Amino acid sequence: MNCLLCNNTIDFKLNIKWILSLEKYKRDNVCKRCREELGKCKIDNACEGCGREQKKLLLCNDCIKWKNNNKILLNNKSIYTYDNLIIKKYFERYKFMGDYYWRKIFNIEFKNFITNNYPSKDWIYIPIPVDEYTMQHRGFNQVEGLIGDLPYSRVLKMKKLKRDKKQSEKSRSERLKTQQPFEYIGDKLQGNYVIIDDVYTTGRTLYYAQELLLKNGASRVCSVTLAR
Ligand SMILES: [Zn+2]
Ligand SMILES: [Zn+2]
Repeated sequence: MNCLLCNNTIDFKLNIKWILSLEKYKRDNVCKRCREELGKCKIDNACEGCGREQKKLLLCNDCIKWKNNNKILLNNKSIYTYDNLIIKKYFERYKFMGDYYWRKIFNIEFKNFITNNYPSKDWIYIPIPVDEYTMQHRGFNQVEGLIGDLPYSRVLKMKKLKRDKKQSEKSRSERLKTQQPFEYIGDKLQGNYVIIDDVYTTGRTLYYAQELLLKNGASRVCSVTLAR
């Protein structure tokens, strides 16, 4: 089998540990070297509000602004920094070229990360929806793809808006100015909710989702993204 990221053959040696753990063992679809490269992009110390990698402050300046705007911070957690070539290339291929198979690179890790930070006995998961245009053109919701078989609730829907630029083509200030993109389509909520997205950029989209969930009865709303 070849590594999904670099296409080199993955060597696979039978060893005693593997034989003994036969039941649980799953082969990785990425080679050891690429996993190590990915490991270097992991976030160690992060802002408590948005999960951004940083050394000192508890809250970054952006989160202080959200707080001053009367937002309840999302306590966002992310695994990887977005600002590196390997993760950017990943999203290019998975999201923009629509290679659905590439969800498998992070499936297990992302699911474990979500349930470790926000255990399923206490939290209900809500992936960010995609709009109809994306569904027609890409054919899948990248967030639902990434979380694999994690059970989730679908209470948000993208509003039908006149299609302007893609989120990824907008500047930071354009993104912050966008209107509420979601509508709420569920029953009254109860309990704690985790919004799941692929990338946390400005936080604007996630705070819009949070606003709707709180308005519809959620007690607490946090978020998790693969990259920040
Ligand atoms: Zn590789
Ligand atoms: Zn922050």
